[in-house]
This record gives sequence, structure tokens and C-alpha cells, in this order.
Amino acid sequence: MRKLVSSLARCFAWTPPDRPIEMKAAVASCANCGGRTRIRGGLAFDRGADADDTSRMRSKLPSPATSLAYSAVIFDFEGTLVNFQWQLEPAETELRFAFARLGFEGGEFARGNYATMWNAAADRLAPQGRMAELHQALGPIYDRWDFDALTRWAPRSGAAELLGELVDRDLHVGMVSNVGRGALNGALERFDFAQCLQPVVARDDVTWMKPRAEGILRTLADWQLAPDQVIFVGDSRADVFGARAAGVPVAIIRGGECDEAAFADIPPDHMISQLSELVALIAG
Ligand SMILES: [Mg+2]
Repeated sequence: MRKLVSSLARCFAWTPPDRPIEMKAAVASCANCGGRTRIRGGLAFDRGADADDTSRMRSKLPSPATSLAYSAVIFDFEGTLVNFQWQLEPAETELRFAFARLGFEGGEFARGNYATMWNAAADRLAPQGRMAELHQALGPIYDRWDFDALTRWAPRSGAAELLGELVDRDLHVGMVSNVGRGALNGALERFDFAQCLQPVVARDDVTWMKPRAEGILRTLADWQLAPDQVIFVGDSRADVFGARAAGVPVAIIRGGECDEAAFADIPPDHMISQLSELVALIAG
């Protein structure tokens, strides 16, 4: 057991809070891994435990899920699990012209970003049942910039290992991304993320992108979890707004889409520099 805990601590540059008093591992078919069999297990810690009462306490330990600060994690994709590679300026310039050709000008279409322009158009078209028109006209442009980014995306250090570890601890692990399904599927397979994420909510799966809460709320409903049981991990203001709108605590990782100064007026619950820092946040 100590060897495994040491291994985890080394892997995530993480110091366990006091000593582990239970580690259990079981072989099970993993619903989060599309039927792939994984070794699943959990850790429970008691900060007041000493060596003599370890065995006595083991029998009344809470389950791993109830011993953690969060029992589920929703990740953003770009800038969070991989580096940020969308070419915002030329992409948004092209999108602004494309929206103008559909008659969407001024307001959000003059000053908004790729997500808020889409959401503003959806606000008008969705009630009219005309979202197919938006997807047909704008979808290929968003997709092309996604696939351009796909040529450069690289995973953040330890990303695949972290996802596997969270699943091994019986946490729900999902994704809500503004990236389209085509490029996202390719990236998740390439970086060995796919088998650990359920659900994956892509741009194509929602009417409104983040900063709206639709994708996050859909994930909560899928898991049947309360917002305070979940932490959202992202890299942008849209992630903070989306999580807040869903009532979900949010951690922002530095070095993604938004500089730290961009969060001055909407501070996240946590700022982290490395994905490995999530282990301590989730352990509580
Ligand atoms: Mg992002």
C-alpha cells in the first residue's frame, strides 16, 4: 500500500495528507471506459489517524466517493488538457464576416468572441427552429479552425495519467468543450483521453456554447449529481461563467486561453498551475 501511495505522490508531485488509512482496489468493468476493464480503487485519509488505530478505523471508513471534496470532475479541453492553439484573431475575423452574411451585425457580432457570437445567433434562431441553418453556414468554419488547431495540440504534462487516476478512484470524469465533435474525437483518441471521459459534450451537442451552462447542466443531469459535488476545470472566462451559471465550483489552470489578469472581475474558486494540483483539491 505504501509503495502505491508513494508512486501516486511521485506521479502527481503530491504529498498525501497525513497517512492513508485505506486503499482498496478491485477489478471491475469500467462504465467510464467504454467496457474496457480497469483496475479501480480509492483512497481515504484521516488526518487524525495514527498507526495503532489504522486497522480499527478501516472498518468504518466512508466510501472513497464520500471521503473526497468532489466526486466528479468536468474538464474543458483546449487550454486545459491540451495547450491552446485556436488562432483566435483570424478565426473570429472570418466568423464575424460569415455572421454578417447571415444578417447578424452589431452588438455581440461586433465585439463578441467565437462563442458569444454563436450564442447570440442561437438566441435568435433556436426559438424559430432554425438552428440547422446556423450549423450549415457556420459549422464548417468553426470545424476548419478546430482541425487547424488539431495539427498543433499537445497534451499538458500528466493529463492522461491524471484522467486515469481519477477514474481509478471511482470519480465521474467528463468533458464539456466548445470544440466540435470531429476534431475533438481525433484529439481524445490521439492523447489517450477518450476511454476516461463520459460524457463528452462537444459544440455540436448543444445549442449554446460556454459561457452558457447548457453542456455542464446536461452533464450533471447525466450523472444525477448536485452541482456542489462536482468541480469544473478550465482555462477561460467562459469556463468560469459557465460553471457559475450551473452552480459548479471551478478551477482555472494558468497558461491557457486567458491570462490570469482576465479573471480579476470573476475570480475562480481555485487557480492552479499544474494539472497535478487537482489531486489535492479533489482530496479536500
Ligand atoms: Mg479552454
